[in-house]
Amino acid sequence: MAKRDYYEVLGVGKNASADEIKRAYRRMAMKYHPDKNPNNKEAETKFKECAEAYEVLSDTEKRQRYDQFGHEGLRGIGMRDYAHMRWQDIGSIFEDVFGFDDFFGDIFGRRGRSARRAGPARGYDLETSVELTLNDIAGGTEKTIEFTRQDLCTECSGSGSAKGSTPSRCTTCGGSGQVARGGGFFQMVSTCPQCRGAGQVITNPCKACKGTGRTPKKRIVNIKIPAGVHEGQGIRVANEGEPGRSGGPRGDLYCYVRIKPHEFLHRDGSDLIAVVPISFTQAALGATIDVPSLNGPRQLKIPPGAQYGSIFRIKGQGLPDMRTKRVGDELVQITIETPTKLNAQQEELLREFAKTENKTVSPKAKSFFEKLKKHFGNNI
Ligand SMILES: [Zn+2]
Ligand SMILES: [Zn+2]
Repeated sequence: MAKRDYYEVLGVGKNASADEIKRAYRRMAMKYHPDKNPNNKEAETKFKECAEAYEVLSDTEKRQRYDQFGHEGLRGIGMRDYAHMRWQDIGSIFEDVFGFDDFFGDIFGRRGRSARRAGPARGYDLETSVELTLNDIAGGTEKTIEFTRQDLCTECSGSGSAKGSTPSRCTTCGGSGQVARGGGFFQMVSTCPQCRGAGQVITNPCKACKGTGRTPKKRIVNIKIPAGVHEGQGIRVANEGEPGRSGGPRGDLYCYVRIKPHEFLHRDGSDLIAVVPISFTQAALGATIDVPSLNGPRQLKIPPGAQYGSIFRIKGQGLPDMRTKRVGDELVQITIETPTKLNAQQEELLREFAKTENKTVSPKAKSFFEKLKKHFGNNI
């Protein structure tokens, strides 16, 4: 599936400032928020799309990569897998975008979120991609994938506090993570804006991670690729996503398959298609020709009288079906090439042949020119 341009998704220009991007994301996220669009799959997809666009455009390095190389530039750098994420989890990723007093804070369902923040929560899923040849797909293979993910900071073990210091109790909420607003009958309880519901604040942040508890780290994993996978298919690698909050389990990694184009073979489900040109004499008289296949060239017998576009099937030379394991065929479609240059002997023979067909053909170029001369005289 083709991804939309991130600037277009957020409705901003290519030169939009960080602030404009933030405002645009806020506006779009509010518009498409699933709470406001119940049972609307399209809105949910747009909501996720906006989050993905914001992740890239709000990050200087990712934005640079994207500006230079487009979506390609973001492959393999551990982008979060928004499409597979629960939308409920997306709100908390960029919560700093949203003010705590605005309407958004409430529609993002902060009720009960402080409890979730305090307890363990599963980490985010990540996505990356792997490029496979048709041969990889035919037999299945194992690939080594390298990507970068946000991991627990080794310096502070993910706490965010500098060595030897501990977070202190939040003075705004007194450690409860919630604050009361308004008064009397209409008192409302909302998440503490100071500690965002954690109940404590980092007073002496770790230098390595600037208090976030996470640092980007390279990760190398081996992935088993089953035979018969398809373009765009995501292979799930459990527990290779981002670490969870407060000791929660890691998310998963989804590795999306991209198929390297083959020089001669195209895939059609489990079948492979090759288009092979033959000469018109081969087509008329029949021939044994060399055709490409996954395992190198093979011979194929063309019967006499083969027509342009005819398809010949080589059984069992396709790709296996992932579920049924049935192996497809290779389909060879022939095209017929008309010679563009004939030598004198070939032309003579073909003219003889044309006579037997009783078909009108153009006169010989030379004699035609002679006739012209005769008609118009020598001044042409
Ligand atoms: Zn740290
Ligand atoms: Zn607080």
